[in-house]
Amino acid sequence: MFDPTRALLEWYDRHQRTLPWRTDPTPYHVLLSEFMLQQTRVETVIPYFERFIARWPTLSDLAGASSEDVMEAWAGLGYYRRARNLHAAAKMAVAQGGLRADPEAIRALPGVGAYTAGAIASIAFGLPEPAVDGNVDRVISRLSALREDPTKAKGKRLIREKVMELQPAERAGDFNQALMELGATLCSPRSPSCLVCPWSEGCEARALGIAESLPNKPKKKQPVPERGVSGLLWTGQGWLMGRRPPDMRLGGLWEPPSGLILAGESSSDAVIRVMRDHAGVEVEVVRSLGEVLHVFTHRRLTREVFEVRPRGVMEPCASASYDAIETVPLGDSRGMSKLARKTLALGGALTQEP
Ligand code: SF4
Repeated sequence: MFDPTRALLEWYDRHQRTLPWRTDPTPYHVLLSEFMLQQTRVETVIPYFERFIARWPTLSDLAGASSEDVMEAWAGLGYYRRARNLHAAAKMAVAQGGLRADPEAIRALPGVGAYTAGAIASIAFGLPEPAVDGNVDRVISRLSALREDPTKAKGKRLIREKVMELQPAERAGDFNQALMELGATLCSPRSPSCLVCPWSEGCEARALGIAESLPNKPKKKQPVPERGVSGLLWTGQGWLMGRRPPDMRLGGLWEPPSGLILAGESSSDAVIRVMRDHAGVEVEVVRSLGEVLHVFTHRRLTREVFEVRPRGVMEPCASASYDAIETVPLGDSRGMSKLARKTLALGGALTQEP
């Protein structure tokens, strides 16, 4: 008779990917990997994970790091709120004597939602907890041909109940990881590999021919288009950059002064205004260097990048948009977002003077 738990664990034992956080799943390694993996692909996370544990081998080391260093090490991984929450969670856990085998205490850490708490509790401590992410929504909805929307309360409850019904007490962490692995590798959203799936025999959605239509989630909203500008200003010693305040999007990271174009404003007028209001510098436009495109969760930003030069004596100053304005020399390693790097690269500004 088809036993989904056994079939899944046997498949996982044979096919699981070798990942650095799986070789030594200490509570710290699991916490770090789960923060990094939110909204981010495994291949992207691996080098960041390895750099973090080389630089901060223990949770206490990470808790004792400066927020500037953590942001710099995180730069390029995106969704920067995670880095601030990770650092705050490390500090809180260390103040409490370390991460504890208590789902409620784990859930109370900054940035830890139900999924991350369940993953840490089950993988690091072997506790019988569900860890339901988008992959798990999909494989469980398909296994049982559940038509309930997994983003609504009833759908959530049904999926959690099904996970707990299948989860073996002695291998809770492996089972949760196997569910995610199945969703990440075989049971893909658009073309599930049912022929080689360990659940092929008992999967109801496959039998009904409705796998691709599940889970029954509402359609994602299209990102709102936005237009912005950046000014690249060479001071003689480096590029003029601002640091985003900690409570703002991309907080703690450096970028060339940037902002949105106002209604009815030309892009060259916008960059002159942005340089004045955000960085305290009067400039004139030298030339447009082209556009960069960046997609955030809900916004699609097209940014025109200008080379600008100062008009008169420069006295850059901080503003509501930047809590520090400095000249950043070429090759400086301070934390920058991927968007800032794309912006600088457009003018060759990462590696050369104008
Ligand atoms: S049989 Fe197909 S639809 Fe069902 S869980 Fe496996 S890959 Fe997904």
